[in-house]
Amino acid sequence: MATPFPPPIVHHPAFRAEMPAGHRFPMDKFSRLAAVLEAEGVAGPAGFVLPEPIDLESLLLVHDEAYVRGVIDLTLPAEVARRVGLPNTGSVAKRAQAAVGGTLAAARLALAHGIACNTAGGSHHAQADTGAGFCVFNDVAVAARRLLAEGAVGRVLVVDLDVHQGDGTARIFEGDSSVFTFSMHAEKNFPARKAVSDLDVALPDGTGDAAYLETLGEVLPDLLARTAPDLVFFNAGVDPHADDKLGRLSLSDEGLARREAFVLGSCLERGIPVAGVIGGGYDADIDRLAHRHALLHRAARKALEA
Ligand SMILES: [Zn+2]
Repeated sequence: MATPFPPPIVHHPAFRAEMPAGHRFPMDKFSRLAAVLEAEGVAGPAGFVLPEPIDLESLLLVHDEAYVRGVIDLTLPAEVARRVGLPNTGSVAKRAQAAVGGTLAAARLALAHGIACNTAGGSHHAQADTGAGFCVFNDVAVAARRLLAEGAVGRVLVVDLDVHQGDGTARIFEGDSSVFTFSMHAEKNFPARKAVSDLDVALPDGTGDAAYLETLGEVLPDLLARTAPDLVFFNAGVDPHADDKLGRLSLSDEGLARREAFVLGSCLERGIPVAGVIGGGYDADIDRLAHRHALLHRAARKALEA
């Protein structure tokens, strides 16, 4: 298995959708993240891998046809669009398809080379029949089902460290032993009604770097050994950060950097392919937020240098 250096980064300009002025979702972070990765040379001289938008057939491995049609044909009922939290527009639909395609591309690259990351993805609140919480299609779930259907993998582990519970992913794979869902999140945060993942670790407000990393250190190595996955999806949401508008766990940039290094390193040293997705992050300062998301891609590069 020859791993290219730096490890592949998947990006599509469509990740940044056109949004109504003043919308609370920080859509500009996707283009800003790509600019940061290019400026710092993290993407390497060859640049980004451009993904194909996901096909309808793959979406239907996870999502109900009526919901998918509603998103793509711009006919979502108003209450469903409200639940998604993003407008039901062509630009948002295109973005959702590009993001799922991006996560599938990153997963394929990870299987071929050991490690690869998307510059979007981690839409973990989306479930079979509806989106929710800024998530349209569940990219990790679709990519996992696609690869399972092809026989490219037999067992998948989802390591979801976004500050919110991966409730959509948990519901999609409930009773499906081929995908193990692990979510570590803030207990007192969206969604109010939690789903049941295969493993949930709910943390109290203000947990901080030391206790957070200690808990992860106690859980992850055992989980990798126990589940023996053919592929790990890592949702590296940066919303556990102290400055995040929606987070509560009081992590620092340094703590997040150590987290990304630990997860990626733990997979690599066991020879388990890992695909990273960026997940949530809601700092009002887009530049600061883009740099925070770039910690994942920097950690991927460093993991291969080590
Ligand atoms: Zn989140």
